[in-house]
Amino acid sequence: MKRFLLKTWIINISICNYLEIPFSMSNIKYQLSHIFKHKCAVWEFTLKCNSKCIHCGSSAGKPRLNELNTEEALTLVKDLNSCGYDGIALMGGEPFLRDDWYEVAQEIKKNQMKLTLVSNGLDIISQIQKLKSLQTDCVSLSLDGGTPKTHDYIRGIKGAFDKVLHVINVLRKEKLPVSVITTVSKINFKELNLIRDLLINKKIAWQIQIALPIGRSSRDLVITREQFYAVAMFIAINLKKYSSKELPLIGAHCFGYFSNLLPELGLDPWIGCQAGRSVLGIQSNGNIKGCLTLPDDFIIGNIRVNNLHNIINSKINSKNFQFFHKNNSENYCSKCIMLKRCRGGCLGTAIAFNSFDNPYCLRAIEKEIFKNNYLPFRWKMNSKILEYKYLFNKILFK
Ligand code: SF4
Ligand code: SF4
Repeated sequence: MKRFLLKTWIINISICNYLEIPFSMSNIKYQLSHIFKHKCAVWEFTLKCNSKCIHCGSSAGKPRLNELNTEEALTLVKDLNSCGYDGIALMGGEPFLRDDWYEVAQEIKKNQMKLTLVSNGLDIISQIQKLKSLQTDCVSLSLDGGTPKTHDYIRGIKGAFDKVLHVINVLRKEKLPVSVITTVSKINFKELNLIRDLLINKKIAWQIQIALPIGRSSRDLVITREQFYAVAMFIAINLKKYSSKELPLIGAHCFGYFSNLLPELGLDPWIGCQAGRSVLGIQSNGNIKGCLTLPDDFIIGNIRVNNLHNIINSKINSKNFQFFHKNNSENYCSKCIMLKRCRGGCLGTAIAFNSFDNPYCLRAIEKEIFKNNYLPFRWKMNSKILEYKYLFNKILFK
């Protein structure tokens, strides 16, 4: 772990250095920086799901008609490895609903890649010994409420809250690495304190992300920009209040960017959307996208038709850059002094909100809330956490 942190630190320094240089040169350095980055494929292993989450961005439930079979899945693992991916996250739907998940997971480990399973936790107790034998690198579970009422309502399953907490305890007892993902919507954003209290001092990594208006999730569920800012403050406060041992907390890619007040909320400094770079999205029928958050317009190939290597190398980057340049020339981001570093934030979030004029940006929101570039209370961030909390409460509970 220490080695990893050190490596991250060294890479971050080199990234910071390049950020000050001219645009064309920075592009080259930007490309170079990704050579050092871990590359992870996020694989919708099946669209079949035993949960009915109201915010599901994939509209999961039934499997796709033509999902990859076991043989194709095993070949894909080897191809991802040969393309330089060193981690695979199997998600869904619910990945454990595929009978061959263990066989494919074994192949991932055989290829010495990191293995993450992302699950709703409804039916995995019987799989825990297999997860142990695989030396799974992370089991990631969804926890969307601090109370049974809220979590069960969001997941559409009675008893889901109790089940997921039980699974978390069993996984911890078995010494398997656990992380929790909370998708914040209008329904649960006031329960973040409660969720935190469930996770604290349990060595559980906690990722907070926002519900986007994609798939089954409606625009009505999406938190407002002020609420978004308040959630960012919540993350910042807790990052300051608790050590990473007590509460390993991070904001997902949607939580940025370049705030004048708040610290970095993600794991690494933001260097632009990683779709098709250190991140790859795979649909259960073999479609490839830069990131699963992106809409199907961004499918750039299918492994049944083309070799994965060719798909990755020939199309993703050019398509994303085309989009970036075409859509980013006449909008809010184009006037932002951080554009070269930020590249307009999370592409998936921007498209979900049907605009590249990213409205869910801390820097942009600050400009509106605080009306000028000076933040007279900035010092309070570092010195007076109570003042900071006051601002948070003012926005969240007004
Ligand atoms: S306004 Fe756009 S470019 Fe500037 S920090 Fe926000 S998302 Fe990034
Ligand atoms: S689209 Fe968003 S979530 Fe996907 S890689 Fe880009 S920044 Fe990350």
